[in-house]
Amino acid sequence: MRYFIDVILPIPLIKLFTYSINEEEAKFILPGMRVAVPFGKSKIYTAIVHSVHESKPETYEAKEIHQILDETPIVTQEQLTFWQWISSYYMCSLGDVMRASLPSAFILESETLISRSKKELSSDQEITLTDDEFVVLEALENQSALTITEVSKILNKKQVLKPIKALLGLGYIQLREEIYEQYKPKLVKYIKLKEGYDKEEALIELLEILSRAQKQKEAVMAFFSLKAGNEQPIKAKELEERANVSTAVLKALVEKEVFEFYYIQTDRNQFLNETENSKILNEHQEKALEEIRQVFAIEKPCLLHGVTASGKTEIYVKLIEEVLAKGKNTLYLLPEIALTTQLIARLKNYFADKIVVFHSKYSVNERVESWQKVLQNTNTGQVIIGARSSVLLPFANLGLVIVDEEHEQSFKQFDPAPRYHARDAALVLAKQFNAHIILGSATPSLESYYNTTKGKYGLVELKYRHNNVLMPAIELVDIKDKHKRKRMTGHFSDVMLKAIHEAIENKEQVILFQNRRGYSPIVECGTCGEATQCPNCDVSLTYHQYRNELRCHYCSYAIAMQHACLSCGSPELDTKGFGTEQIEKELTELFPDLKIGRMDLDTTRGKYGYQKIITAFEQHEIDILVGTQMLTKGLDFKNVSLVGVLNADSLLNFPDFRAHERSYQLLSQVAGRAGRFDKKGRVLIQTFNPFHQILQQVSSHDYLSMYKEQLEQRYIYKYPPTNRLLKITLRHRDYNKVNTGADWFATSLRNVFGNQVLGPEFPPVSRIRNEYHKHILLKMPINQSMSKSKKAILKIQNSFMSVKDFRPIRVVLNVDNY
Ligand code: ADP
Ligand code: ZN
Ligand code: ZN
Repeated sequence: MRYFIDVILPIPLIKLFTYSINEEEAKFILPGMRVAVPFGKSKIYTAIVHSVHESKPETYEAKEIHQILDETPIVTQEQLTFWQWISSYYMCSLGDVMRASLPSAFILESETLISRSKKELSSDQEITLTDDEFVVLEALENQSALTITEVSKILNKKQVLKPIKALLGLGYIQLREEIYEQYKPKLVKYIKLKEGYDKEEALIELLEILSRAQKQKEAVMAFFSLKAGNEQPIKAKELEERANVSTAVLKALVEKEVFEFYYIQTDRNQFLNETENSKILNEHQEKALEEIRQVFAIEKPCLLHGVTASGKTEIYVKLIEEVLAKGKNTLYLLPEIALTTQLIARLKNYFADKIVVFHSKYSVNERVESWQKVLQNTNTGQVIIGARSSVLLPFANLGLVIVDEEHEQSFKQFDPAPRYHARDAALVLAKQFNAHIILGSATPSLESYYNTTKGKYGLVELKYRHNNVLMPAIELVDIKDKHKRKRMTGHFSDVMLKAIHEAIENKEQVILFQNRRGYSPIVECGTCGEATQCPNCDVSLTYHQYRNELRCHYCSYAIAMQHACLSCGSPELDTKGFGTEQIEKELTELFPDLKIGRMDLDTTRGKYGYQKIITAFEQHEIDILVGTQMLTKGLDFKNVSLVGVLNADSLLNFPDFRAHERSYQLLSQVAGRAGRFDKKGRVLIQTFNPFHQILQQVSSHDYLSMYKEQLEQRYIYKYPPTNRLLKITLRHRDYNKVNTGADWFATSLRNVFGNQVLGPEFPPVSRIRNEYHKHILLKMPINQSMSKSKKAILKIQNSFMSVKDFRPIRVVLNVDNY
C-alpha cells in the first residue's frame, strides 16, 4: 500500500500538490500539520497538509516529503474549510490564502534569510543543542545571514527546516525581515502629597507657610479640589491647568517636600492588574442591547447604526461579557489596528489578559505567540482583536464576531491576493461557527444598510450620544466667497481662525483635517506649464518641504526639490494644491506659541508611530493636531471642541463611484471627533461648493437622505449594492501588449456576458512602477449565479494564458472590487 498527502504550497498554484509518504508517516500526519517538501529543481517549501489518502497522482510522479515539522496541527479543520471558501469566492489559490494567514516564521522556504539574534549562548545550553543546530549557529558567527538553501549546503542534507525551526523557537536566530524597534512606553507624570500632609493640622500649617507664595498656595488648594470626589491619581499637567500655574511652581513645592512626582506608563491600567467593571448602560444603549439580542435570537447578522460617541463600544463590551460567560470566544475586527491603541487600552481595562491582539506590525515572534494563543484556546486569549487578516486565525469555539467601523474600506485587501473583504468574510466565518455577528458604524456602508432593508440583517439604531451631548454643529464655510472678499490667510478662512482662537482660549484642543500628505501635490513651471512627473508612474511628484524632496506616492521614487524646471530650465516653479505639511507650517507661523502636531503616513512610521502622537495629544502636549484620514478612525479625545476640514472638495471630486458615499462617511467621522464627552462640539468645513448635496447631508446629519440618493444612483448605473462588480486588471510594461491583450479578453467576455462588460479602459493613473494597467469591469445583477459566472471567467482566463503572446501579461481578478 502506498500513501500520499495533498498539500497547500504557499505559492499561487491553483491545484493542490501530491507527495508520497511511508506508512509510519501516514499514521502520524494529520491535516493542518506542516511538512517540508522539495519543489521544482532545488526549492524547499513549507507546506500545509490538506489531506492524507491512497490515490496516486495521474500526471506526475509524486516526490517524497523531506520532513514532518509539527507534532500536532497548527491549522485547524475549520480554517481549511474557511480558506477554501475564500479561495473560491475571491478566485485565488489556497496558497495565496495560506500565505496571508500564517505568520512568516511558520513558512520557512529556500529563500528565507536567517541571522543570529542577540541572545547569548552559554556552554550549558550549548550541550542541549543537536549537532545540526550547533553547526548552523557556528556558521552564523562567521556570516551575517544565510538562506535556507545555504544552510542545506552547509549541513549537506535536505532536512534542515527542523533545526532552523528549533533555533527560532529558542530565540537564537531570527528572520531577517524582522524590524527591531525598541519601544519605551511613555511615562506620564503624576503628583501626590508627601506623607504627613494629608492631616488637617498639617495642611493648615502648610497654607500658613505658603501665605507669601501665592501661586504655590493656589496649587495646593487646586490639588485638594481635584482630589475631592475623585479616586483617580492626579496628573501634574492637570494640576497645572486647574491652578493655572507653571511647572516651576510645582517643582518648587516638590523641593519644599510638600508634593512628590511619580510616573506611570500610559498603556498600563492605573490600577495595575485590576480590571474595571463595565459601564452601566444609559437607557438608549440598554434598549439597543435588547434589540440586538432579539436580532441574534432569530439568527441574523445585526447592523448597529449608532451616531458617533453614542457608546457603541460599551455595548460591544456587554456582548463580549455575555459570550465569555458562556465560555465562548469573540473576534473583534477593527479597520486598522495601529490606529486603535486607544480602543485596545479600553478593552484591556475590562478584559485584561483575556485579550489577544493580532497585529501586522508586530514582530514575527509576537505574531507566532498570538497565533498559538488562539489555537490553544485557553483562558487567555478569549477575546481576539485584530485588523483584516485576523479573520484568518485558528479559531475554536467562536461565539461572537464584532466588526467595528464596518464601512471602512481598509477591510478590503487590494494587493496581493487574496483580495478579500474582511467584513464579508467575517459573515461567512460567523455562519460556519454558528456565532452571532454585529456590524457597527455611525455611517454604515450602503451594502450593509441595503441588506437591512432586504431583511437579510437586523437593524438597531442608536441616535443619541452618551450624556445626551448634542451632535456637533456643522457649519459650511464658502471659501470662494472668502477668497473674493480677501478673508483668507493662507488656507484658513477668518471664521476658522477665530474658532481656533476661541477653542485655545478655553484650553480646548483642535483637530484639522486635510486629506493629502506632503507640502503640495503638484510643482508646476510658471513658464512652460509642465508639472514635475514621476518617471515610473503617470502622476506628478508631491513636494515634501520637510525633507526638501519631490516624492511619488505610488512608487516612492524621490529626488531633491528642483530649483529650475526640468523641461525648460525656467526658475519659476509654483506649488499647487496643499497637504498636511503646508497646513502645519502655516499654523506654526499663525500660532507661534502653540504646539502643533501632525499625523499622517510620514509621521507615523514604525510600530509605535501612531501611539506616540495619540498619547501626546491625549496628554495635551499638542494643542492642534493636523492630519489625514487617519484622524477619522474611532479616536476618542475628551478635550477636542473644534474640528476643521480645510477643503472638502478634493474628496467629493475623486473619480470613483463611491466618492460621495465615502465623503459622507469621512466627513461625518472626522466631525464626530468633536465634543464627544460633555460639551457640544463645533465643526467647520471649508469648501468651494457649499451647496453640494453631500455637504448639506453631512451638516444636517442626514444619513438616510444620503443613503436614498446614492442608492438610486447605484441602481441606475448598475453598481453595488444592487449589482455585483468584478474587476479584471491586465498589467504589463509594454503598452501595446496590454492593449491587445485587454481587447482580446474583453471581446471574449462579451461573448458570454454581453453588455455586462465595460471597458477595457485605462484608469486615471494608468502607469505605475513602469507597468501599464488596463481595467475591464463586469457588472452583474445580484441574482445572477456567481459560481457559473466565475467558472466562465476562469475558462476565458485559461484560453488567454494559452496564447503565447499574452502569457507574460499579469491578470488580476478582483471580486467585489472596492
Ligand atoms: P462610539 O463607539 O459610539 O463612538 P464610545 O463607546 O467611544 O462611542 O463612547 C463615547 C464616550 O462616551 C466614551 O468616552 C465612553 O467611555 C463614554 N460612554 C459611553 N457609554 C457610556 C456609559 N454608559 N457610561 C459612561 N460612559 C460612557
Ligand atoms: Zn518649464
Ligand atoms: Zn512613481
